[in-house]
Amino acid sequence: MLRTKSPYILRLDVSGFPVAWTSWEEAICLYVKGQVAWEAGEHAFSFRGGTSRLTGKRSSITVNSIVAVHGNSMSKRIYRQTPHLNNRELFRRDNGMCMYCGQSFPDGALTRDHIIPRSKGGKDIWTNVVAACRRCNGLKGGQTTDQARLQLLAIPFVPNPAEYLALKNRRILMDQMEFLKKQFRHDRLLNMKVSHFSVENEIDTNRLNRFIGPL
Ligand SMILES: [Zn+2]
Repeated sequence: MLRTKSPYILRLDVSGFPVAWTSWEEAICLYVKGQVAWEAGEHAFSFRGGTSRLTGKRSSITVNSIVAVHGNSMSKRIYRQTPHLNNRELFRRDNGMCMYCGQSFPDGALTRDHIIPRSKGGKDIWTNVVAACRRCNGLKGGQTTDQARLQLLAIPFVPNPAEYLALKNRRILMDQMEFLKKQFRHDRLLNMKVSHFSVENEIDTNRLNRFIGPL
């Protein structure tokens, strides 16, 4: 899970495939090193750096909310990998809802239920797990859904790379979500919330001074 007050920058490979979330510090480094090939976002964030000893002027740099970076295409490698399964992303995949009773719960009240119980050989994989409230998980216990007479409200799925990136970042910006959505394969992820905030108010520019100094 990404934790920051500032937005994360969506990093693409040079072919436009979404690869990762990058902190704004890392994004500035990519710009400074000339590694940004092109930009695709609607937001441009300006950061002020240190004062140049040569010109006496304060430097600044603008970072786009979506940047494509030079280098090899990552898409084949990432598509071969299964995204890491953890509860935060699992609960978000299932819209914070118990997949048996359909009620919404905060993350702390949800559990990871194994559809085929682990005691019956069920695996701990995306397609065998759902979010479940404590009550339903307790009712089901070590039984299968048939034995417990419970019915799944939705089929569990493995998020694809774009979906997983969207699940990982809870402060995703509208343009980043729109970009990722084009590669979504599961309709029930289309209504994920996006974040609206003023970046300029959140960034501590002194951190930038310490980070890169005069540009
Ligand atoms: Zn429930």
